[in-house]
Amino acid sequence: MTAATDPDRLVFFLQGAHEDDCDGHCVGADVKTSSKAPGTPHNASILDNLARLLVSGEEMGQAFAIAVVPDTQRSRFIIAENKLVPLDVRRHLTTMLHSLYETRQLVLTYRQAQHSSPVIPIPIPRDATDPVHRKLLELEVSVFRHSWPKLRRRFNKAHRDGVFTDICSAILSLDPDKRLPLSVLQQDGLSVLSQSDRKQLGVIRHIVNQIRVLLVPSTVPSDDVIHKMRVFLADMALIMRRMESREVPSLRRFASYARALGKQDDDYAKWANKVVSVHLDFTSIALAVGSPTMDTILTETITIDIAETNPRPARVHVNVDNLRIALGPGQNFDTIALQKFLESKFGQYLDTEVQVDGRIHCECAVLARLDEMRSAGVPAIPYVGVSKPSCVLCNCYFEAYRAVTGQDIRTRATHGQMVPWRCPSLGDQAVDAQVRSELSTKLRILLVDNVDHYWKRASLSSQSDTLLAPFIRPTLEDLDAIYRDVSFW
Ligand SMILES: [Zn+2]
Repeated sequence: MTAATDPDRLVFFLQGAHEDDCDGHCVGADVKTSSKAPGTPHNASILDNLARLLVSGEEMGQAFAIAVVPDTQRSRFIIAENKLVPLDVRRHLTTMLHSLYETRQLVLTYRQAQHSSPVIPIPIPRDATDPVHRKLLELEVSVFRHSWPKLRRRFNKAHRDGVFTDICSAILSLDPDKRLPLSVLQQDGLSVLSQSDRKQLGVIRHIVNQIRVLLVPSTVPSDDVIHKMRVFLADMALIMRRMESREVPSLRRFASYARALGKQDDDYAKWANKVVSVHLDFTSIALAVGSPTMDTILTETITIDIAETNPRPARVHVNVDNLRIALGPGQNFDTIALQKFLESKFGQYLDTEVQVDGRIHCECAVLARLDEMRSAGVPAIPYVGVSKPSCVLCNCYFEAYRAVTGQDIRTRATHGQMVPWRCPSLGDQAVDAQVRSELSTKLRILLVDNVDHYWKRASLSSQSDTLLAPFIRPTLEDLDAIYRDVSFW
């Protein structure tokens, strides 16, 4: 086992820290906008859709990244997962890509004969006879079957489904004693729902109750159950789109109502979006089969490479000398300040040698593979699709990579959180060293801020005679929980 490299050591000392200006609320906010940023390739959103549809939910905290190296003969897809790419996920991706390629060929045939594109109804009727519709229907059923555990987990998480229907009932009740008082909304500066939104909410409540029934059996769902679910989610997504397009989105009121009911104060609009996400991701891809964009990524023959996320084990000695090296020259923190910082973060592990936690995150593993191919003269679509926004550290790594290589490769924006992370290695040692150095400069600024912030807080706290609770180094189970916390519901 070797000593940690500069970026790994910096991340080690930063571990557990968060950026002050970012918390959980920015997770959802980044999702919709970032893949449409200027300069983002047209096919970027398809890669994000595909990455999200790889998540089955069988394992907690799954996160996937995907990139494509187009070729006229054979498209090469590169995927990685934060832990391990399960065999069924690889099979599922192969099925999706083959099926999309075949659908695209049917679309082209249709276009030649009809001089127009086929219209794709959403949801596609179960008894559709059109060959394009049939093909997409078959794919959608397989997507829903793969995503079923994820759907169930998101739907039931923290009993949000129950709270959601309780709120709907309290809003819609005809009995004034059971109805939530207007003052609840007025306190939060919100108006009551319009009559038309109340009707729509009644329909959503009905749909959520029906979905709950479909998700009860723990067995693999039949085609019949999947077809019902497809229609429920399509209807729910349509109604939500209407309600959320208002000046004050209707579901925004749910947090106020939840508080009034004494329930957990969650973002129920986000919950509802998570519930319909399989439908939304599939629909985006289905509608893209009519677009020439698909021809840039799909060929009859495809290959799928798995990028490595397993880092070489490394250790760090937790002491002030090492922290000083990580902070870099020119810092005048006194030894006691640094000692206290380490005590608060590492407690009993102070002055011992500790193994660095974390894996190479999936988007960085894919980027490293793309870099290998770029060195060999093979250009890729400059976008890595991800099933959830990147962490702060991946975001910094991509920035450093862009700055050093001039290659404008991106992912969706960051969710702003920091989780155990290891630095990938690039094939070209000179480029690797430059990227690491660039990254270390960014991380060093974060670490200096972090120590400074800690010291100011500790000084204030000692003035008020409050002792800081010592930091207990997380166990592997804790780290798993951290991964889960930053995952989407
Ligand atoms: Zn990351």
